[in-house]
Amino acid sequence: MPPFRNRFRRNSLLSSEVLDRSRVLDTLVNNLDGMVYRCLNDERWKMIFVSEGCLRLCGYSAEEMVNDPAFSWNAVTHPEDRQRVHQVIGMAVAARQRFSVEYRIRTKNREIRWVTERGMPVPNEQGEWVIEGHIADITEQRAMIESLAQAEQRFRHIFENASEGIFQSTRSGRYLAANQSLARMYGYTSPDELIADLSDLDRRLYVDPNRRNEFLRQMKASGQVVNFESEVYRRDGSRFWISENAHEVWDAQGHFVCYEGTVQDISERKHYQQQLERQASHDLLTGLPNRTLLNDRLAQGLAKAARSGYYLGVVFIDLDNFKFINDGLGHSAGDELIKVVADRLRGCIGPADTVARLGGDEFVLVLNDHYRLITVINLLEKVLKAIGQPLILEGREFQVGASLGVSMFPGDGDDPANLLKCADIAMYEAKKRGRNNFQFFTQELNRLADDRLNLEAAMRVALEHDGFDVHFQPKMDGRRRMVGVEALARWHHPLLGAVGPDRFVPIAEETGLIMPLTMAILRRAFTAARRWNEGRAEPIQVAVNLSPVLFVGQDLVRRFTDVLEETGLSPACVEVEITETVFLGDKERAVSILEAFRALGVSLAMDDFGTGYSSLSYLRHFPLDVIKIDRSLVTGVENEEEVAMIAGAAISLGKRLRKRVVAEGVENQAQFEFLREQGCDEFQGYLLSRPVPEAEIDALLALESTELTNLVRNQRRLALF
Ligand code: C2E
Ligand code: CA
Ligand code: CA
Repeated sequence: MPPFRNRFRRNSLLSSEVLDRSRVLDTLVNNLDGMVYRCLNDERWKMIFVSEGCLRLCGYSAEEMVNDPAFSWNAVTHPEDRQRVHQVIGMAVAARQRFSVEYRIRTKNREIRWVTERGMPVPNEQGEWVIEGHIADITEQRAMIESLAQAEQRFRHIFENASEGIFQSTRSGRYLAANQSLARMYGYTSPDELIADLSDLDRRLYVDPNRRNEFLRQMKASGQVVNFESEVYRRDGSRFWISENAHEVWDAQGHFVCYEGTVQDISERKHYQQQLERQASHDLLTGLPNRTLLNDRLAQGLAKAARSGYYLGVVFIDLDNFKFINDGLGHSAGDELIKVVADRLRGCIGPADTVARLGGDEFVLVLNDHYRLITVINLLEKVLKAIGQPLILEGREFQVGASLGVSMFPGDGDDPANLLKCADIAMYEAKKRGRNNFQFFTQELNRLADDRLNLEAAMRVALEHDGFDVHFQPKMDGRRRMVGVEALARWHHPLLGAVGPDRFVPIAEETGLIMPLTMAILRRAFTAARRWNEGRAEPIQVAVNLSPVLFVGQDLVRRFTDVLEETGLSPACVEVEITETVFLGDKERAVSILEAFRALGVSLAMDDFGTGYSSLSYLRHFPLDVIKIDRSLVTGVENEEEVAMIAGAAISLGKRLRKRVVAEGVENQAQFEFLREQGCDEFQGYLLSRPVPEAEIDALLALESTELTNLVRNQRRLALF
């Protein structure tokens, strides 16, 4: 139908019909949800009128309710609620006031329903007070409200008992609501206390004042923050880490209401995480930066030095003889030593510098901001002095030295790896120069370092092909008769030529090649000695040098014995030469190894006597047979009074302790005679013989035996006369 016609009809209807008020009222009343009523103001609430809604409300028809004399609203009212409803209505009637009451009814088919009744006392046509009102079913609303209340209670329970902190806050940084967990986390006894006290999140909560701004920025950008981690203050000022998850809350009209979110205490995780990060970049034992962090610091330092024009120094530090302490006294003493050194190094450097540990006994310093070399040198001297301070390990006083190698930027390199390599090379030079000193890197050193690597490789090849040789230096008695020989390693490299033991033995000691090298030397020396002594009444003693490094390993004695058995040489023909360094670490262990040698039947000689560092007390305690007076005490003995005095004292000390005393490096007759007068038993040196190949010893022995035969022949001849 076209719209204008519709409008026309409605207008005509309104104007043409007369309003029948009582019919409209009837329709309204009977179509109303619930029941409109009038009842007597008596005990039973006898109904006089009810609207048709009564059927749906309680299952009784209007007819029944009004006409059945047995029916009363009192009976429909739930027995448990009756008294209360009577009371409410009774009071309202007495006061001539409206009332409103909620209660339960029982419907015709015995269902319980909730109703709300509103009414008031009115006088009827006869002037008696009756009640008129409206009763509506509210069972569903109540169920809804109840479930809402239950839900609310559930949520409140979660809110209040959550282990996470929960909050609602304003944009301006005030809390609207908080739960107990949040209060506890922040150091308050109750949420109310928290809300009252912590009114300024911007300034009071976050350690980093920009954190709140960042929170607001993220909120603005995406309406939420996720896993937002910050360090915050507790009420007492202590700090801890939290993670926040929050979002904006808007109402139905699109107005901002609040921020709402949760807070988790992540201190433990954070702590663990920081620990892991630290472990990745720091050395566990000392807490110093490790190699990874060192490289970072070096790169940073280099960039800075390049900008500023200052020097950057890299110092490679290696402790002297650490291995002996570590293997000798045990690892915990070694660890203790490393920690002490780490502290001392920390104390030497400035705030802009770095001390890192590379592992073992190796440290690296990165020195920044030096513009004169002299300040670097001063610092290096300070470092040597600090490390050299005595320290107590396992109840004994020790002193360690260190060898320092230095490389500088600019000059020696411009990347971390190169500078470290140069400093390392310089450190080896410091070791070579007698330890406990520092050396700067030079190109010359670089060349030597290359040599070192080449030498090591060449040694490995030589060991595989039995390329090491042995020369023997005779030891003579006071009548210049050969009583023994010292076996000395020799190496003739096809390209490098003769390489002296002073060069290759230290490399062998550092690279672990010393054991196979020693065994090769022993095999040759013992085989030769076995041959020389066949059928000899007075055997030739063969002396062999054992590096102190061998005393740190496990199976020196066993392997030594193996070679003896293999070559068939009697242990009585063998002398083992050791140096004092053997006693630097675990003395007891050293002694037990020496005793095992003794038990084998070999004799023991203390080599290089008079050059050592330590007290002479070991002479009394250790099972030594021989002391060898070092060449430095022999050279000059004939014309320098002091040298003569010291040598004399050393010899008489040895004699008094009933050791055999051998002088080495005897180069002239005057030395020989002086030493003999002082009581030396045996002599070794260029005067008597240089170290010579095995065949020359053969020749010497042959000569000796012809001399002997001649002597015997002469004696016989004499006897004939
Ligand atoms: P060392 O044990 O003190 O050996 C004595 C060194 O002094 C030898 O040097 C010998 O040639 C040298 N010498 C002997 N008499 C004289 C002399 O009158 N004047 C001078 N100026 N020198 C003399 P070499 O053979 O060069 O050995 C040097 C060092 O290398 C040895 O010192 C020893 O410590 C080590 N070495 C040599 N062979 C071995 C070996 O097989 N094993 C171990 N562990 N070390 C060895
Ligand atoms: Ca020796
Ligand atoms: Ca010696």
